[in-house]
Amino acid sequence: MTVAGTGTANGDVVVPDELANNVFITNIAKLLDPAYNWARRNSVWPLVFGLACCAIEMICTASSRWDLARFGMEVFRATPRQADLMIISGTVTKKMVPTIVRLYNQMPEPRYVLSMGACASGGGPFKEGYNVVDGIDKFLPVDVYVPGCPPTPQALINGLIALQEKIDQQSIATAPWYRKDDPTAGLYPVPVLGPDLVDVRQLGIIRREAAKHPVESPVAASEATPEQPADVAGAPKSVNPQ
Ligand code: SF4
Repeated sequence: MTVAGTGTANGDVVVPDELANNVFITNIAKLLDPAYNWARRNSVWPLVFGLACCAIEMICTASSRWDLARFGMEVFRATPRQADLMIISGTVTKKMVPTIVRLYNQMPEPRYVLSMGACASGGGPFKEGYNVVDGIDKFLPVDVYVPGCPPTPQALINGLIALQEKIDQQSIATAPWYRKDDPTAGLYPVPVLGPDLVDVRQLGIIRREAAKHPVESPVAASEATPEQPADVAGAPKSVNPQ
């Protein structure tokens, strides 16, 4: 639509000077994204979920002194079905990763991950420990990293504001959670906990590497050993030297 007049040109629309402060000209695409993002950025509900000492700082952030309600984020949900944000607050052990990924997959889109503290982002002081994952981003897509050991409530709030700024940049036209071409898009495979953690996405590589180093089967090895006397074939007996 073109408005006749001698006022300011706004694209192909000329707005008369007397209306310039009263008329708001836009199109549906420009109006939709700010409204869509405004609603989401101010109602990010985190999952009730803490892993270690960083969780104490997260709990403090939700208390009255810091007041997450100012950002619309105070509604910590006890079910992943109602949560938008997973705050990874603490040391991620190999035993916990399958559960974390399963919870993430149960959250509805759009969903976000905030990695809080050195442990969640890279293993922290326990990096390369036998039971610790050196970064949750090996398994989940992280949107915001908050450094520190532990990060203060101010740092966590700064990370949450960074998440809001990221949400502001998203567009309903290109949001990945509306794509229909791949129904499994956005789902992350749950790792398998065995003697170590196995990322099922790496199975092809693991099989190829295992084939290069064949190990003798324990069954075949036991068949090759001489037959044991019947009285020692069962469970080992404890020997008391006294
Ligand atoms: S980053 Fe520091 S405070 Fe946070 S869980 Fe690890 S050791 Fe604890």
